[in-house]
Amino acid sequence: MFTRGADLAGFGDLTGLQPETRENMPVGVSVAMKYPADVIRCIADLPTQEYFDWYNLLNEKLDGLVTFGAEFLRSAGYRAIAQTRAQVGASGILSTALPHKTVATRAGIGWIGKCALLVTEVYGSMIRLSSILTDAPLGAARPVNDSKCGGCRACTDACPAGAVSGREWSAGLCRDEFFDAPACQKTARERARLGFGADGVVAICGRCIAVCPYTLGYLEQS
Ligand code: SF4
Ligand code: SF4
Repeated sequence: MFTRGADLAGFGDLTGLQPETRENMPVGVSVAMKYPADVIRCIADLPTQEYFDWYNLLNEKLDGLVTFGAEFLRSAGYRAIAQTRAQVGASGILSTALPHKTVATRAGIGWIGKCALLVTEVYGSMIRLSSILTDAPLGAARPVNDSKCGGCRACTDACPAGAVSGREWSAGLCRDEFFDAPACQKTARERARLGFGADGVVAICGRCIAVCPYTLGYLEQS
């Protein structure tokens, strides 16, 4: 995975999740690719066309990466499903049956921040994610069950939609309990229109990525 462009990857035990959400597969492979630092430095005010282009490019690259990984596992005799956009639907801001970020927490890659994005210690939330479901006996990482947001309120205070309640995530907490996805989506459409003339359907914002101290920690050293 790393030789094909992944910046983070891990294996997670999914058996604690509902079988129907994970296609009865016991293992999840999580992969992440990061945005270029300069792209994220430019979105604290409004989203840019460049950020949207990279959003699409990383999604495309991740589709290719998990397709390759699933084919590799199948060629070794295992079942494997690449959770590409075609497979799970282009989820955007709203939810899917088994979000990539849930697989990522099971694979020990990060936690779900107050803004409902996957946050990593290394890159903050300036990443895109994808995943593979498989029955291959891959050694699972220690899952992340608790948030490391602590008392931080950066995304709560910065969110123009008021979508971030400030409540901390822990494993099993439903997103709706701490985050207002419809409010985020509505505001993200407006900000995409203001930022780069999007058509009112595209919903992308990213201010919560740009203000996260974990993202800023990476940007400072890159
Ligand atoms: S993407 Fe924008 S609107 Fe949505 S939670 Fe983040 S800051 Fe708020
Ligand atoms: S900005 Fe702060 S509260 Fe929000 S996800 Fe990052 S660390 Fe968590």
